[in-house]
Amino acid sequence: MTARIIDGKTLAAELIARVADEVARVGRDHGLEPGLAVILVGENPASESYVRSKTMKTVTAGIRSSIHRLPETTSEIDLLRLVAQLNADRDVHGILVQLPLPPQIDPHKVIEAVDPAKDVDGFHPMNAGRLASGLPALVPCTPSSCIRLAKSAHGAQAAPHGDTRERVHMPFAGLEAVVIGRSNIVGKPLAQLLLGENATVTVAHSKTRDLPSVARRADLLFVSVGQPELVRSDWVKPGATVIDVGINRIPGEGGKPRIVGDVAFAEVATIAGALTPVPGGVGPMTIACLMLNTLRAACTIAGLRKPAV
Ligand code: NDP
Repeated sequence: MTARIIDGKTLAAELIARVADEVARVGRDHGLEPGLAVILVGENPASESYVRSKTMKTVTAGIRSSIHRLPETTSEIDLLRLVAQLNADRDVHGILVQLPLPPQIDPHKVIEAVDPAKDVDGFHPMNAGRLASGLPALVPCTPSSCIRLAKSAHGAQAAPHGDTRERVHMPFAGLEAVVIGRSNIVGKPLAQLLLGENATVTVAHSKTRDLPSVARRADLLFVSVGQPELVRSDWVKPGATVIDVGINRIPGEGGKPRIVGDVAFAEVATIAGALTPVPGGVGPMTIACLMLNTLRAACTIAGLRKPAV
């Protein structure tokens, strides 16, 4: 079997185009201009590059954006002060604090300081709790991206994330889903979304026994670990949909760094039914989901109906 490669770039561009149409409509009909504020502390090159990609896409989506750059030595209190200012700013509908933060700052304190209504990363305990309760929430972008990409391989448009009451078509109902990784930003919320989709969900992690055989049960296999090419072809059930979240930099030819996922792409492509590439899979769709979250947050704050995207 040769897997269908899920083209995250094209699917993300389609979603951003739909978000842009809605942004134009709410501007025209309601004078609403969604705004995203991004906070970047320090000079981590990977964070710089993520922030650049995110803000570039705000232009395509018609979303106003501002970047707040703070030095590596910023104190926790100064960062919390900036978050409070942005919470109070009526022109800002989404606040994203790029992680990781320097060691003197407690990321949990900062995440909890963001107004849950503006928490477009979906990391605030209020949004995590609402998601776990099946209530409408701002859902973390990477898990939303994973669901959209997996659905594209199952012939379905993604349902509005985090709102089980609005779901009409559930292509994952009854399927075995295995999520490898239990981080708060990917694995745990992804498991909640899959439960909401009526999949039978197993969450595996570093202490899981016989991980290859657990992974082989999966009709839907999601991998968010941070270990280059951990998942080999004999971990994958023939025909499974495999979504690779990992972004790992390894030495390539001539010592030039190369990016690979958590899945051994070439060999898994011979057995999976559908597979996301790295780069070009989960990453671009994650940014598209951020644009959608910003539009949704703006509509909710303005008391408008949820946008039809
Ligand atoms: P974390 O480091 O927070 O979590 C990693 C998880 O993987 C943990 O639950 C850990 O288990 C588990 N794990 C580690 N080693 C193994 C192993 N050998 N076998 C099984 N499980 C293991 O990672 P994130 O979820 O934040 O990120 C994972 C990867 O995804 C990274 O490469 C990151 O760069 C990438 N990423 C990509 C995004 C995108 O938009 N494309 C967004 C976010 C992340 P335990 O809990 O037991 O320690």
